[in-house]
Amino acid sequence: MKTLYFATHNAHKLAEARAILSGTVEVLDLSRLGCYDEIPETSLTLDGNAQQKAQYVWERYHVNCFADDTGLEVEALGGAPGVFTARYAAKAGIIADDGPAANRRHLLDELREVGNRKARFRTAVALIRDGELLTCEGVVEGTIALREMGDGGFGYDSLFIPDGYQQTFAQLPPQVKNTISHRARALQNLLKIMPL
Ligand code: IMP
Repeated sequence: MKTLYFATHNAHKLAEARAILSGTVEVLDLSRLGCYDEIPETSLTLDGNAQQKAQYVWERYHVNCFADDTGLEVEALGGAPGVFTARYAAKAGIIADDGPAANRRHLLDELREVGNRKARFRTAVALIRDGELLTCEGVVEGTIALREMGDGGFGYDSLFIPDGYQQTFAQLPPQVKNTISHRARALQNLLKIMPL
């Protein structure tokens, strides 16, 4: 089977990508390259960050690789936190040592009096194969729950209820998330435009 490196140190993302691409391509993590660098993501777009991360790995290791970048876009917040999703609480000046949990608390605070809880996850993926760059994205629509529910997943999963379901991504079986999620759709789109 062909191999592809995934430019991430996030074990959750890695497990998801492996499940989504299983049977198609073997997904390898950066430790296999001895790469433990914190890869910069300084762009103001998801696509720019995904490209930046994939290019970082290609330039140093010359291996086929892909990267992703995800934003949560909340309608009532004008599309925020968007590209700042990972730094949502910190950007609001909240000092906390539990980053992801602080982000979720901040989101619930921002939506406390808000009836419209529509949101979407958007993932940009950048693939570099033999030096050629290809990008695509995936979106899943849903709503932000009134409180955290579920222990599975990571990031904002315990707050996101995908359309058509009553449970959050953290409550749904991983197979469901890995079929309908932003990341699954982005990687499915990638396979459509460039069979691996
Ligand atoms: P990044 O793509 O690693 O930069 O992630 C941006 C932010 O979105 C981080 O706060 C992640 O925890 C969060 N995030 C990324 N993917 C997911 C997901 O599949 N579910 C929930 N949160 C996610």
